[in-house]
Amino acid sequence: MVISIKVKGAVQGVGYRPFIANKATEYGITGYVKNIGAAVEIIASGNEDKVRSFLGSLYSDYPSGAIILDVEYETIDHPSTNYDDFRIIDSESISLSDELPVFLPDIGICDHCLYELLDKKDRRYRYPLISCASCGPRLSIIESLPYDRNTTKMKKFKMCPSCHKEYLDGRRKHAQTISCHDCGPQMVFAHFSNGNLFSASGNEAVDKAIEVLSNGGIIGLKGLSGYQFVCKTCAEPAKRLRSIKGRENKPFAVMFADIKHVKEYCLVNEKEEELLRSFARPIVLLNKIKDMPYEVCRDSQYIGAFLPSSGIHRLLCDAVGPIICTSGNLSDDNIIIDDEIFKEAFLKKIDGMLFHNREIVMPQDDSVCFVIDTGNNEYSVQYIRRARGYAPLPLLIKAGNKKKNSYLAIGGDLKSTFALAKKDRIIPSQYIGDLESTNTYISYKKIIDQYLKLFEFKPDHIICDLHPLYFSTRYAKELSDEKNLDISYVQHHFAHSLSVMAEHSLLSCIGISFDGTGYGTDGKVWGGEILHCNGSDFSRKCHLSYVMLSGGNSAPKNAELVKKCYEKALNYDIDDKLVEAALSNKINVFETSSMGRLFDCVSALLDIKKYNSFEGECAILLENMAESSNKENYPGFEFKILKDHDGTYIADQLDLFDQIKRVYVEKSYEISDIAYGFHMAIVSFVKEICCIIRRETSEDKVCLSGGVFNNRILLRECIRILRDNDFKVYWNNQVPCGDSGVATGQAYYGLICKGLERR
Ligand SMILES: [Zn+2]
Ligand SMILES: [Zn+2]
Repeated sequence: MVISIKVKGAVQGVGYRPFIANKATEYGITGYVKNIGAAVEIIASGNEDKVRSFLGSLYSDYPSGAIILDVEYETIDHPSTNYDDFRIIDSESISLSDELPVFLPDIGICDHCLYELLDKKDRRYRYPLISCASCGPRLSIIESLPYDRNTTKMKKFKMCPSCHKEYLDGRRKHAQTISCHDCGPQMVFAHFSNGNLFSASGNEAVDKAIEVLSNGGIIGLKGLSGYQFVCKTCAEPAKRLRSIKGRENKPFAVMFADIKHVKEYCLVNEKEEELLRSFARPIVLLNKIKDMPYEVCRDSQYIGAFLPSSGIHRLLCDAVGPIICTSGNLSDDNIIIDDEIFKEAFLKKIDGMLFHNREIVMPQDDSVCFVIDTGNNEYSVQYIRRARGYAPLPLLIKAGNKKKNSYLAIGGDLKSTFALAKKDRIIPSQYIGDLESTNTYISYKKIIDQYLKLFEFKPDHIICDLHPLYFSTRYAKELSDEKNLDISYVQHHFAHSLSVMAEHSLLSCIGISFDGTGYGTDGKVWGGEILHCNGSDFSRKCHLSYVMLSGGNSAPKNAELVKKCYEKALNYDIDDKLVEAALSNKINVFETSSMGRLFDCVSALLDIKKYNSFEGECAILLENMAESSNKENYPGFEFKILKDHDGTYIADQLDLFDQIKRVYVEKSYEISDIAYGFHMAIVSFVKEICCIIRRETSEDKVCLSGGVFNNRILLRECIRILRDNDFKVYWNNQVPCGDSGVATGQAYYGLICKGLERR
């Protein structure tokens, strides 16, 4: 039997080909291995059983430092050559302009390095920046490809003789970040006392930081990919940190020394444990079983838990217990990577900063995710923020595109990301933030530039949102003028659906796209959209009825105001002259079909929460309330589906709101049951409308996307009911369903759109 295998992933520069050659010999297989751009091609010839087990081993067995994304193979029925040995074939030089290379994300500290870090006899005992060939910073310190010590911020640190010896052989062979107490970056602790600046270095710096933390202080810490604030999980420092950051209610993430300590506070299932331990070391939202002080998690029923991503994090956790570890910037501002900027902004407000003399090139936030049970013990990982540990890994598109075009998808303005796309892959950037913050916008433009340079990527087409006033759209236009590039505009909710289609290489679907806000083709604010997506086209089959809201940009924050507008539209007496006047005179008003606002409005109606101090706060508390229902005796609300004169279906959200209000006023049900009934009304509506569209179009694939699908009940129940009705259901598993996923959808649009050939 002869098969041709393609292994895609980060397989270059990690000794992958010699590894494969050894393995082939072990299995008694002949053939060859060679680099083909961003993948490795293997021809394996031999006895069928041997060839199959060799193939099977490729998924799980690879040299440390490699990341395997996909293994494709095909049988060669009539091989033209006989292979009598196994060879490594030298690759022709590969031009990056043909392929998007796979480059490594930052990798959390590995078990070997952890062991050495804590081993008194090891020469790297307590070396905070310990790393090896399989762990340590990658994207955060790279300046250009290929990955080599000289192309990273390690270049200024000359290896000592001991490190150099390890660089040549053993588990640190070719580890570009190799370093130690003697030759690597060193920690410094700086703090103000009586107006004077003091500093300590090396082990003393770490000890000093531990002392400050133990006494309830707050420090700034230069992490792998940006500054963080760190303090103990106690009420006092947490409260003080909220005021320093300007962060009212949003829960803080908590870092634990190891999994055992996480389990003291949280329920952890197998999948969650796997995620916590994974090299990306994301923050995982876990159900709490033991309370933290209120100031740490506020009203959340979850703890955002994570494990140390570097040696220094582990040393701090070991010494002071669980720590609050959050980005070292103002709320809604960008990640800080520059020592001087952090010092200027914060050192006088906190109790010291622990940093080192290796520069960070690429700022990245911590990634955030959670796991839901989608039925039959099938677990699904949902990303809320995809950043450190995941970027810049690509999404592989199965229906590979043969065009040579390169697309730069610019994303949207909220929770911004961008994406590069070419042939069979899309590289989504890390989460960057909201562009209405000037610093974030500057950072966003800079990171786009860094990616273009790093991947030697020369886009010939730019794709952006339809919103004419988005900063991202304006920047897309600037870039297109400056570089003389074609530009395409993709409607926001279509882009959400496309992001799911991209992950699953689909070419058509019914797109259920629920979120807070996005610019529609009719110039109104969309957000409760059911689309029929077909290739690079879509038609809006159904949407929530339009409701007139006042308050302009403040509406998304002010749930009580939104509720009054709904009541006014239903002719209730709202006892608010200002809102009445604004609505009747149409001052600062807009029409919207937003699902996000409907959640806010119901939250305010049920008196659960009336104001969003962070995005989604009202909706999250409404969901928590619904989750606490016994889910048996709940009111059956109904989303009425009407048909417009042009054939578009309209889901009457005012009528639904009115049903809920009546039941609420009657006090005939528990609040939790009303909240659950509201969720289930949406679930039934999704099923109904999908059945209608399937009858009209024969489409049976459904893609669920948009930030509202961070709602566990909604996602879980929609998947269940649609599957029960024989739909094929897809949702975001690799990029967030919120606006961070929009860039990936735009990028996929580029790859599948027939019209976008090179000029
Ligand atoms: Zn390591
Ligand atoms: Zn050294």
